[in-house]
Amino acid sequence: MTAVIDTSRSPRARLRPVPIRSVRLTDGFWEPRRQLNRTVSLREQHAQLEETGRFRNLRVAAGLERGDNRGKIFNDSDVHKWMEAACWQLATDDDPWLGERVTAILDLLEQVQEPDGYLFSPFIRGLRGARWSDGEAHELYCAGHLFQAAVAHHRVTGSDRALSMARRFADLICATFGEGRGQVDRPDGHPEVEMALVELYRETGERRYLDQASFQIDVRGHRRLGEPYAGWISADYNQDHRPIRDRDRPEGHAVRELYLMSGVADRLLELADPALEAAQLRIWEAMVRGQVYVTGGVGVRDVSEAFGRDYELPSETAYAETCAAVALIMWNWRLLQLTGEARFADLIETGLYNGMLSGVSLDARTYFYANPLACDGGRKRRPWYLVACCPPNLARTLASLPGYLFGTGDGAWVHQYASCEATVGGVELAVRTGYPWDGAVQVEVRSEGEFPLRLRIPAWCVGASLSVNGAGASVALEPGTYAAISRRWRAGDVVELSLPMPVRRLAAHPGLLENAGRVALARGPIVYCVEQADVGGADPRLVQLAAGAEVAPRVRPDLLGGVTVLETDAEQLLPDPAWEGALYREAAGVAGATARPLRVTAIPYFAWANRDAGRMQVWLRQRPGG
Ligand SMILES: [Zn+2]
Repeated sequence: MTAVIDTSRSPRARLRPVPIRSVRLTDGFWEPRRQLNRTVSLREQHAQLEETGRFRNLRVAAGLERGDNRGKIFNDSDVHKWMEAACWQLATDDDPWLGERVTAILDLLEQVQEPDGYLFSPFIRGLRGARWSDGEAHELYCAGHLFQAAVAHHRVTGSDRALSMARRFADLICATFGEGRGQVDRPDGHPEVEMALVELYRETGERRYLDQASFQIDVRGHRRLGEPYAGWISADYNQDHRPIRDRDRPEGHAVRELYLMSGVADRLLELADPALEAAQLRIWEAMVRGQVYVTGGVGVRDVSEAFGRDYELPSETAYAETCAAVALIMWNWRLLQLTGEARFADLIETGLYNGMLSGVSLDARTYFYANPLACDGGRKRRPWYLVACCPPNLARTLASLPGYLFGTGDGAWVHQYASCEATVGGVELAVRTGYPWDGAVQVEVRSEGEFPLRLRIPAWCVGASLSVNGAGASVALEPGTYAAISRRWRAGDVVELSLPMPVRRLAAHPGLLENAGRVALARGPIVYCVEQADVGGADPRLVQLAAGAEVAPRVRPDLLGGVTVLETDAEQLLPDPAWEGALYREAAGVAGATARPLRVTAIPYFAWANRDAGRMQVWLRQRPGG
């Protein structure tokens, strides 16, 4: 099964995945992006892996070149993640170039791997240090990415080559880490190996990989990593400050935290653990209550890349790393498999269309690391980074995207809407939709049989309606649930789902002081922003919407690759000249602001920074009352 995570035999999974291979995206929103991922991103990222010495480090470790190990100590992970992305892409696309590159990487990695299975280039022959000597060296983090790549390779090609390499390294890790005499009894500084070990267990049936994942989860939180960044980063940075079961909220480095939670969810799909499950849900609920940007971005602090306090969600200095949005999607995907609850699929949708997608340019050549919700100008995506976790993370998510649309388990589940033909647990479906720009979704059932077809009604959607073969159906269509249509289906039956997409003006909790008096515009799953280029060069921070003014969607095939924009009459505030040179003034003497009329066009947040590097604002001022 070519699923991203294969819960088909997981005893506690409510849902089963649908193989990537069983979903053929047709035209629409995602397929052109997934093809650009293959034809542009993966090719240019591969060139970066060479130019920036990632492959060179591996050749040196293999003894094929002389030299030292350079760059960030976790650079091997970029190669592994690229390989994983290439494999998922190969699940549906015949691309000999990609296939050859994957084989070449395997050739190289096999030469790097030591006789006992060890495979981490900085510590081979002590190039940069000794094995297992440094919890912050990302040794197991890189191993985890290797395991995920190997599982993807095995699922897509059927070859044991990468999987056996991964197993040899995993066996060494299982023998090395534990509470026994002479074993290493600490976690890795950067979680990742937990979810990868569970997936390796699923792929091989080897129980010790699941046990090692459990050990890695349980050993964390006892301060065995010490405080490697003491003095400038708090002790919760690597989640080793407190056992997960005792925690109530997301803490520390956001990507580390959500990778850890993904591993926890994977373990819970295999093993019952009420205390761990309760803690995980407490952490999820606290995150949603006070620590997620409206875009699905997470991680507010740019020093420690960390979660903050409740309602600490600054727009301009938001960190919201692309990898954190990917991690949010991964965690919620696992929670969805565990529970079948639409709230997790809703958050996946928010992350996919906003916080993750803003990480890549429309031409698929450049990337954001941080994804702020306001910008004073000057931000540009870049083709690569010294720490290049985000580009291949985007690539593997886009490559595996068809696997995130459906599920099975007491019927056929449609989690996300995209035009495609799919086989969902033996049921043939064809989906036609203009989503996310249009909420009309047509699902044609091409199989016979009696089963529930479950369609997600997004939490943002009020007033959904549904018909089967043109006749209204008496089905509950509550926002934030799955509508279940149970009947004896005949091939050719057509379900028409209408998800109204009025423009929404979202307000933030009063505790989020920065957004007081401001609204964010959204339509369907898309969050909007105002860029300087669309308001005649005005400063978007001084754009003020009128509370009662109509905000109208308009289809713009000519703009930003084809988007639906939002248009409204608004105004531009003109600061009183008396403010010149003054930071503070006696409030009683401050005149009401003057303003001039301004026609405002808001664009999808994901498409910002694709023209000039001007100012941008998601949360817009709104004039009270009129
Ligand atoms: Zn990243």
